[in-house]
Amino acid sequence: MSRLAARTQLIDASGIRKVFDLARHMKDPINLSIGQPDFDVPPEIKRAAHAAIDAGRNTYTPTQGLAELRDMLRADEKAFTGRDWKESELLITSGVSGGLFLALLALVDDGDEVIVPDPYFVMYKHLVRLFGGKPVYLDTYGANFGIDPERLESLITPRTKMLLLNSPANPTGRILSRAELEAVAAVCRKHGVLVISDEIYRQFAYTEMVSMAEVYEDTLVLAGHSKAYGMTGWRLGYACGSEEIIGAMAKVQQYSFVCAPSVTQWAALAAPEVVLEPYIDQYREKRDLMVGLLGGTFEIGPPDGAFYLWAKAPEGFTGTSFVEKAIANNVLIIPGGVFSEKDTHFRMCYTVPEAKLRAGAEVLCRIAAGG
Ligand code: PMP
Repeated sequence: MSRLAARTQLIDASGIRKVFDLARHMKDPINLSIGQPDFDVPPEIKRAAHAAIDAGRNTYTPTQGLAELRDMLRADEKAFTGRDWKESELLITSGVSGGLFLALLALVDDGDEVIVPDPYFVMYKHLVRLFGGKPVYLDTYGANFGIDPERLESLITPRTKMLLLNSPANPTGRILSRAELEAVAAVCRKHGVLVISDEIYRQFAYTEMVSMAEVYEDTLVLAGHSKAYGMTGWRLGYACGSEEIIGAMAKVQQYSFVCAPSVTQWAALAAPEVVLEPYIDQYREKRDLMVGLLGGTFEIGPPDGAFYLWAKAPEGFTGTSFVEKAIANNVLIIPGGVFSEKDTHFRMCYTVPEAKLRAGAEVLCRIAAGG
């Protein structure tokens, strides 16, 4: 008999692992699989991190996070969403992953249903299951990867606890418009459904980006520094929501993460010195380049934001069989089935040098043409 807790059997890392197993033997692949920026942490933030270490700011911080950083983030949120969160309504977390973990642990009871638009960020499905909940998938393929409010409403039951929203989305790049968010809010308000809004890519928006918090009062916003500041390894994010939920998350944080990394929190105080536009512009250009190179051959989801393209595998291929062929041709992409209950698409990440993007696009188009 296994000595492992039964809940470990509820989650499975095999999808993405299979892809990386296939990739292990690739020499110098054209790697369009990595979901992180290719720029380093901006110098202003690095300097602040060095200074924090040298100044001995290496100890625990309060569970909720540094007061200075919380004040700064509350002001940022007010500017971005109009929401004036109180001190007790913001918690600094170890990345958005940390925020998701705490939120779901604090909110999901056994048998609770969590509506997850499909395709989804992989962690959602597994965390919901790990905490005893049931992911209920909201198919978005027929809605141009947006959310059809009627379909959403049809999935709501007395066990529905929340909707897990992600805009700009990983893997599709889709941004939900204000009108779409308002329609979602109307359904959720009617049924008392909480929305967790994962806005980790909010800075990477090539069209208007509206926060769910702006249109729906019962929203828990998760945002973070990993992607915008190229600091995925530094583990910083934050959550804004009702005092009740943030308080419960803080209680769980006290007995788990304790606090987000102290040096990272001090370093993030320098974030306002960083001008993000050149970084974002660079990805907008790469997106345009890839849409230009691939758009004639592949059906591509609305590339509104983040740094991914979501494309349909050509006739005769599943997502997986197309990815296998791409890998055999030295291009690493991820099959849609890793992010979805369907296996019809694949995901590319365009945070790589232009020459690699061009070479990768050429290979993908050649395979699609039967070459
Ligand atoms: N949400 C989404 C949609 C993501 O794509 C990621 C990272 N890939 C995360 C959350 C987690 O980010 P982090 O924990 O680094 O903040």
